[in-house]
Amino acid sequence: MRYQFKFRPYQRRFLRSLTTNHGNWDIREGIILRLTDESGKLGWGEIAPICWFGSETLEQALDFCRRLPGEITDEIIFSIPDELPACQFGFESAWEMRSGRDNFIIPNSSLLTPNSSLFYSALLPAGEVALNQWKTLWQQGYRTFKWKIGVYAIADELEIFESLIHTLPASTKLRLDANGGLSYEEANLWLWTCDNLKANAELPLEIEFIEQPLPVEQFQQILELSTSYKTAIALDESVATLRQLVACHQQGWRGIFVIKPGIVGSPSRLRKFCHQHQIDTVFSSVFETAIARQAALQLAAELSQNNRAIGFGINHFFEQEETWLQSLWNDL
Ligand code: MG
Repeated sequence: MRYQFKFRPYQRRFLRSLTTNHGNWDIREGIILRLTDESGKLGWGEIAPICWFGSETLEQALDFCRRLPGEITDEIIFSIPDELPACQFGFESAWEMRSGRDNFIIPNSSLLTPNSSLFYSALLPAGEVALNQWKTLWQQGYRTFKWKIGVYAIADELEIFESLIHTLPASTKLRLDANGGLSYEEANLWLWTCDNLKANAELPLEIEFIEQPLPVEQFQQILELSTSYKTAIALDESVATLRQLVACHQQGWRGIFVIKPGIVGSPSRLRKFCHQHQIDTVFSSVFETAIARQAALQLAAELSQNNRAIGFGINHFFEQEETWLQSLWNDL
């Protein structure tokens, strides 16, 4: 089969700058692509790299798209190199959309609002802003929150954490995401604090896990921490791409894997791995538009286990996107 191929780069500004241990992020840049097969069926895909998280850069992705001819084949789509995981995802998901649907369905608001069959986790901003922000999100129906740590001094964060856990309602689940920003001592202190809270029966909420406490290079230490404490640990940066995910699994990781479909690589190979190994996964956003989100949610719905909330509660970081997306692809 041959496909006409078109693409457009895009830029979107966050309503509020996103602060993590990797720094501030103000503008999301990516590429929207379209495949048209010989019968006229359309498939839309999105390449949304995060190079500081382990994917290719936007430049590398653009370069790849620019070098492709206007007409491409299945062979091209399924032989994109592992060094371009966001491209693998974008092209393969466009291919899947085209093969699975008779008509292109314009992403609509029902896609963007939490679906009752999947449970969403909402991202709280770092620092004490979280103390006020959760209420609005709670009113919107969120019951799992993720709070960024490793951004400010640990003494300050522990103090805010203490307030936060006593403010959040009883049925809440809280995830802490350090983005690899803790020292070994700090990671121990966080895990110890969480274990102590768990031992205290009065704590109304559940600390679900700590995400990526140490940098990617310190995998052995994270593995060791995971056996020393009761509080669960999730790998995120360490398993950004399928290649890394397979390597961590081979080295004995049996904790939680955060999967960001937008940058993990080939959806078909991810499916195969998850079916083979029954890993404990949490699916998560890369601040993509509705196009990649639709494909990512599809994968999450197929592969999520253990009823874990998925990390796509990020709409409050952007303006409504329907009009914006519509104008982008009217142009394509
Ligand atoms: Mg994370």
